[in-house]
Parts: sequence; C-alpha cells; structure tokens
Amino acid sequence: KAHPPRRIQHQSPQTPSASSSPIPVQAASFERNTPVSGDEEFSDEQSDSLTDHYMDSASHGVDPLACRQIMKEIVVADEEIRWGDIAGLLNAKNSLKETVVYPFLRPDLFKGLREPIRGMLLFGPPGTGKTMIARAVATESKSTFFSISASSLLSKYLGESEKLVRALFYMAKKMAPSIIFIDEIDSLLTARSDNENESSRRVKTELLIQWSSLSSATGNGPGGETDSRVLVLAATNLPWAIDEAARRRFSRRLYIPLPEYETRLHHLKKLMSRQNNGLSDVDFQVIAEMTEGFSGSDITALAKEAAMQPIRDLGDALMDADFNNIRPVMVKDFEKAMLTIKMSVSPASLQQYQDWAAGFGSTG
Ligand code: ADP
Repeated sequence: KAHPPRRIQHQSPQTPSASSSPIPVQAASFERNTPVSGDEEFSDEQSDSLTDHYMDSASHGVDPLACRQIMKEIVVADEEIRWGDIAGLLNAKNSLKETVVYPFLRPDLFKGLREPIRGMLLFGPPGTGKTMIARAVATESKSTFFSISASSLLSKYLGESEKLVRALFYMAKKMAPSIIFIDEIDSLLTARSDNENESSRRVKTELLIQWSSLSSATGNGPGGETDSRVLVLAATNLPWAIDEAARRRFSRRLYIPLPEYETRLHHLKKLMSRQNNGLSDVDFQVIAEMTEGFSGSDITALAKEAAMQPIRDLGDALMDADFNNIRPVMVKDFEKAMLTIKMSVSPASLQQYQDWAAGFGSTG
C-alpha cells in the first residue's frame, strides 16, 4: 500500500518507558496525520513485524497469532474522528477531556490520586455518537485505538476469544497510551443467567482478570511495564443488563442522550454543507424542531433520504441529467423524508435510560 496507517503514534517524551522500548524502523514510520484514503489497515507484513517487536520474554502465555489478529482486525487505523466532528455533547466531551485526554497527554501531572481511571461506560440510545466519541477520545489523546464488539468476540472468535482478550490487553499495554473500546459490552457483562454458556463465562472472567491487571500499574503487568495509560471504554444501549459487580468497575458512567435542538441544528447544517441546498436559517430551524426525538443517526438517515428527492423527481430523465442541474434540496424534501424515516427510540425506552442515568450515571 502506498501509505502507512496513521493511527499509531508512540510514546511522548514524558513517557518513562520511551527509551526502554525502542521502536523498530517500520513502526517509527507510522506517523499520524499522513494523508490516507480512509480504509487503511495494517498489511500482513506490518502487523506481523509490529507483533514480533512486542513479543518478548515477558509475553509468556500470550499467543502471537492472536496478537497478529489484534493488529490486523482490532487496531483501528483508518480515518480519524476529532472533537469537532461530533455535534453537541459538550458535557461528555468535557468529562472525557478531564478524565482521559489530559491525563493521557500529561502523565507527569496525573499520578497517584490523580491517576487516570481504567474503566468508563458510555450508555444511551443507539445512534447518539458513542462510537464516534470513543474514536475522538483516542485521536485527541494520541492513543492507539483498539475496537471490538463484545458480540463479535463471543461469536466470531469463539474458542479463540480468551486468547484474544489476553492478547488485546497485552498489546494495549505495550502500545500505550491505548483505548480499548468494547461496543455492546452488555452482551459480555450480563447479569448471570442460567443459560449463560460456559465459553462466554470464561471470556467474561478473562476480561475481568485482564482488566484488573491494569490497576497494577506499579509493575505487575506483563513485562513489568509501568505505563498506566490503558483505558477500557465501553458502550452499551442496554446498561441495565450489566451485572452489578461489572458495573462498579466503570468508575465513570456517562449518559449520551438524544441530541437537543441546538445539536440537531448543528448536525443538520453540517450534513447539508456538502450538499447543494436551498435551505434558509429558518428552514434549518424548522427541520431541527420537527426532528425532536431523533438520534444522530436518525438525522443522518433523514438527510440522506431528503437528498434523494431531487434525484427521484427526475425519474428516467436521471440518466441524461447534468449533475450541475440537479435542483437543490428543500424543506419539502425533508417533510417527505419524515414519512419514511421515523425516530428509532420510543419515549418509553427514553424514560428507561433517564431512570438508569439518575440511579447509576455520573453527573459530569
Ligand atoms: P452509537 O455508537 O451511539 O450507536 P454512532 O457513534 O455509531 O452511535 O453514530 C452513528 C452515526 O450517527 C454516526 O456515524 C454519525 O453519522 C451519526 N451521529 C450520531 N451522533 C452524532 C453526533 N453527536 N454528531 C455527529 N454525528 C453523529
């Protein structure tokens, strides 16, 4: 491939282990901010050589093949998401800056009692930007981003999942600062039920063990590494399904709510900025009003549907149409799109999130 992935950036000068962990030539060339096409991932050669670099005498019990799989499938090396890409959610952004981004960037200031937390839960309805936020946290904190969904861990990698979890935490520590993002965490940390099968119980146990090993930042981790900058950032649409013991491990539980009026307005303007449109400020306000109860992804779907209307109006003439002559998107297109694209979160389930946030959520 023409360009190396840009996600990986290694230790900042403050990191004590920077000198003890020399980066091989291949890894050192993985600069951030290299223009890439957006679908980059590590080539077999790159992931193998990175893995080899991190396997050492202390990697006892960690499967090299699982590490390679982590490098290939789980380290995210594509397009970066930044704070500015996320509409609204100021509370969540501020809270994440204080608890993760600053401590990761300035480990020298955040020691002892100020040590960064190891577990954070993002909960709320689907399509509200939880995954985007996790990616932005990784970018803004210059961390390696490991992303896996709990359900794929339980299905796709079944049989290999425990090894994969072990390798995941091993690589995350080696490549710290790291964010381990686990989507749909509820499926892994569910309150114990009779039909919980043996293998998912084992994966859950391994996850909890590995997660605990992060607290031994003073040197008990594999390799005696002292870098404490590894965070398990998990997301769920079903926070109430997480069992109590697991819930307590998330020192912060952040509610990511449906977007408010201002956020919807901002999101709509941003989406339409790349599309020929005849929408005035008042039009935008009208659409923001009528999308009360929509999630971020509902709004994206709505705007896509509205943008289709000018094309649909052309009928068969579409084949001969000149791109520059397609009419702009109007409010009426949004009104029509509202007939097809509906809000995906019911008021009843919204209430359930609010209740859980009041009981177990962190306030900032
Ligand atoms: P979640 O993880 O909460 O289910 P995602 O982060 O996957 O939601 O968001 C799904 C899509 O919805 C995103 O790709 C983006 O297009 C849009 N979206 C959701 N929330 C926002 C937001 N706050 N700002 C901008 N886009 C958003």
